[in-house]
Amino acid sequence: MQVPAPLEYERATSVDHAIALMERLGDEARVVAGGHSLIPMMKLRLANPEYIIDINDLREELGHITITDTEVRIGALATHQQLLDSSELAAVLPIFADAEKVIADPVVRNRGTLGGSLCQADPSEDLSAVCDALGAQCVIRSSSGERVVEMHDFHQGPYETAVADGEMLTEVRIPLKPNSSSAYHKVERRAGDWAVASAGAAIQLADDGTILDGRVGLCAVGPNLTNVQPISDALRGQVPSEELYARVGEIAAANAKPATDTRGSAAYKTHLAKELTIRSLRKAVARAQGQNV
Ligand SMILES: Cc1cc2nc3c(=O)[nH]c(=O)nc-3n(C[C@H](O)[C@H](O)[C@H](O)COP(=O)(O)OP(=O)(O)OC[C@H]3O[C@@H](n4cnc5c(N)ncnc54)[C@H](O)[C@@H]3O)c2cc1C
Repeated sequence: MQVPAPLEYERATSVDHAIALMERLGDEARVVAGGHSLIPMMKLRLANPEYIIDINDLREELGHITITDTEVRIGALATHQQLLDSSELAAVLPIFADAEKVIADPVVRNRGTLGGSLCQADPSEDLSAVCDALGAQCVIRSSSGERVVEMHDFHQGPYETAVADGEMLTEVRIPLKPNSSSAYHKVERRAGDWAVASAGAAIQLADDGTILDGRVGLCAVGPNLTNVQPISDALRGQVPSEELYARVGEIAAANAKPATDTRGSAAYKTHLAKELTIRSLRKAVARAQGQNV
């Protein structure tokens, strides 16, 4: 089946309008951003909303990338291409450029959004691993105001998020820390494909060169496995070294729960969880040390 079921279409003129529409239309309504996940699901009849609320006119409210000394704020409608093109973002959070270079193709990147990626909550979604490694916060808005949800509480299972009926994800906030950097590595079967597996790392170094804080987000190796707390525990206070990365890679592999599918066997994906964790940690630390890698 390649044709969506009949539906009603509404075009929101503001975030408040989108929320009012969602409240009026109830749980049969879905927001559409880039449409690159929702529309294919509708064509396959895996999603059958009675109404879709198009939020593409809200770029002024939701399309921003704002960088201050302490924080990056990215609107839910910022596209993959915006995230890839922003040299200011790459300078402070290079993990975004690393990931966006290997997400899909220009057609998808031109329309697909950060908000859509996080709200789709596909365990293979690269930006979820990126935001998890960065310790992002998600701003969710409804008619009664805003609430902020930590990234590790945002995903509640495959294709399930903390966004309730009548609510919208409006912004993602990422803290900027001194002496820190980040990196992302992905293995895909061919250019533009979804990950066989991927890993992102964010590292903050102390003045003495030890690791003050480290996080790894994994993608496509479990139902919703993202940040692995034992990895952060193993990194904290340690001197960066190949031995440390190898040890932490083993923790990533031990926590991975991939399934065998057309992208690869569970054993191969577990191996990738380890290897990509090692590579992303190595690069994030080198960048935090000031190396241009
Ligand atoms: C051929 C192809 C290849 C791809 N490859 C990759 C890849 O390699 N890596 C990767 O990570 N992704 C990949 N994607 C997915 C792509 O990144 C999508 O753009 C993304 O998953 C969804 O973003 P969207 O803006 O299109 O969301 P939509 O499809 O519009 O929406 C997705 C879901 O999120 C909800 N939603 C959207 N915005 C909001 C909001 N602000 N608040 C609340 N709910 C919201 C919608 O209601 C819907 O349920 C690929 C997609 C395609 C078609």
